[in-house]
Amino acid sequence: MEPYRHFRHCPRCGEKLEIAPEPADQFQCGRCRFAYYFNPAIAAAAFVSRPDGTVLFIRRAKEPAQGKLAIPGGFIDIGETAEEALRREIREEVNLDATSLNYFCSFPNQYDYQDVTYPVLDLFFSGRVDIAQDAAALDGVESLSWLDPARVDPEEIAFPSIRRALQLYCADHLRWDRRLACPSKLFAESHLPKTSEWC
Ligand SMILES: [Zn+2]
Repeated sequence: MEPYRHFRHCPRCGEKLEIAPEPADQFQCGRCRFAYYFNPAIAAAAFVSRPDGTVLFIRRAKEPAQGKLAIPGGFIDIGETAEEALRREIREEVNLDATSLNYFCSFPNQYDYQDVTYPVLDLFFSGRVDIAQDAAALDGVESLSWLDPARVDPEEIAFPSIRRALQLYCADHLRWDRRLACPSKLFAESHLPKTSEWC
């Protein structure tokens, strides 16, 4: 259920609401005029690559999307920059220090937790790690693996936002890295140029 549907009373004056506030992104009390906007939560995630072009994928240990593939990342705390939050999350989840984080795209997402469907904006970065660093499956991570991003099955990806970002990541990186395999299933139904342009 969306956050606004949980509001039954005005949080300032206590006025009882007969119906859920509309529109869905704004609450305004009819008695005291208190206004509150339901903005999306912001999350950051990274395609962390090694020098051989493989990317670190994690298998989620918890709901939502338990058992599905994702990339390291998480919600940005109040007062953090996206880069600070992302470095923290990468350390907490896979014990790596990522270098040269570069923002490249964002997509809206939804995150279901305890009967609340949170609207989220996911910010996606690319990053690198030294081959000598050892990744470890830590907080919220069942297992991890370094994969050729073009060969990851889109059906295995936890969230649509990551699936769409992966398409862009592969389009940007495989164009210049012909050592990796040709994109196949990932691009089958996309609007991107045909796979022959990369291979
Ligand atoms: Zn009120």
